[in-house]
Amino acid sequence: MIGVVVLGSTGSVGENTLDVLARNPDRFRLVALGANRNAAKLAQQIRHWRPAYAALADAGAASELTQLLGGSVPETRLLAGAGALEQIASLPEADSVMAAIVGAAGLRSTLAAARAGKRLLLANKESLVMSGPLLMEAVRRSGATLLPIDSEHNAIFQCLPPQSRAGEAPAGVRRIVLTASGGPFREATHDALAAVTPEAACAHPNWVMGRKISVDSATLMNKGLELIEACLLFGLRPAQVEIVVHPQSIVHSLVEYRDGSVLAQLGSPDMRTPIAHALGWPDRIASGVEFLDLVRTARLDFQAPDTERFRCLALAQAAAREGGSFPVVLNAANEVAVQAFLERRLNFLQIAAVIEAVMATATGGAALESLDEVLAADAEARRLAHESLTAQPVARGHATTRGVHA
Ligand code: NDP
Repeated sequence: MIGVVVLGSTGSVGENTLDVLARNPDRFRLVALGANRNAAKLAQQIRHWRPAYAALADAGAASELTQLLGGSVPETRLLAGAGALEQIASLPEADSVMAAIVGAAGLRSTLAAARAGKRLLLANKESLVMSGPLLMEAVRRSGATLLPIDSEHNAIFQCLPPQSRAGEAPAGVRRIVLTASGGPFREATHDALAAVTPEAACAHPNWVMGRKISVDSATLMNKGLELIEACLLFGLRPAQVEIVVHPQSIVHSLVEYRDGSVLAQLGSPDMRTPIAHALGWPDRIASGVEFLDLVRTARLDFQAPDTERFRCLALAQAAAREGGSFPVVLNAANEVAVQAFLERRLNFLQIAAVIEAVMATATGGAALESLDEVLAADAEARRLAHESLTAQPVARGHATTRGVHA
């Protein structure tokens, strides 16, 4: 039985992971669940799974959880506070750790799993974007196995030669192609983009995901973060990664070899495929995903992304080229701007404006050699992003109707 820890169990990837585990009860044992503050959902999961440990980062929510359970699941030890997630990420009884916390909040627990030599199933792309060289070094040192959960990177992993090693350029590969759905506003005009609402941004045409990644998909920042992620995971230069819009989200990504062969991974757009792939690897296990019907799909379209309308992608490409602290700055400014958009304090186009302003003013691009340096660059970029929020002109769009630019 493989012991599994699910960090971010109350989120979209977390719930999909539990769904795949439930389909394979003879293979996996759930050791621990972790989340931030959704005590009600975590209580349900604890009652159902009865894991050895459960953790909430938010101490207030953890007391609510204790009350909700009222001692009804004595076999589950409840832990609270930020350090609790690091603790469950490195439990000796855990073989595999699903890192599915959203944003920078997942950094420490992801690093803890890498340092503890676990099989690290990496959905939390922000932690890799922030601490790429540190995380890859931790994986190498501890002998951890890093398996990508992002559907595109999981697709690439499946198309690479089996002997490829994390972070090292794979033999014979000329370049990779990351596909992007284009999000819900693929065909929207620049003016229309200024007026889109958080609800529209979170209604993705092909995927059901958490709110932050849904907005990232709508701005194409998600593809930019994935570009940085791909370079780190597969030892590639940004120039070796092409981004292609593919509205059907059936071809999840492609690898082009020196001899002209192109290998692709296809499937229904459902995160349970990459989750099942990484949980079972190298075996194939049931995922519950609807099988692909090519005749019904009928068309596969591809087009170039528009980096004029979707400035976030251009900014991420610049950060990937510059390297050093720029990916950290990009990620931090994006998290602040997306949160402000979700709270209607910023309009959609101003997300890129805030990130651009922060990238222009944040300190240098020197390589970050320690977690402290990463956290300092992250903190500075967040401070600059908050300053930039208040400096944004009141633009046409939903943000203006709430009078938020106080
Ligand atoms: P959700 O918003 O659905 O879930 C986020 C999870 O993170 C929740 O369990 C939440 O707990 C937890 N969390 C949030 N803030 C904190 C915090 N401060 N400390 C500890 N835990 C926290 O996100 P998704 O599942 O959509 O995405 C998770 C990650 O996976 C992201 O990095 C995303 O980019 C990546 N990913 C997601 C895909 C998808 O299809 N959804 C596809 C590919 C990658 P709580 O509920 O208690 O707040």
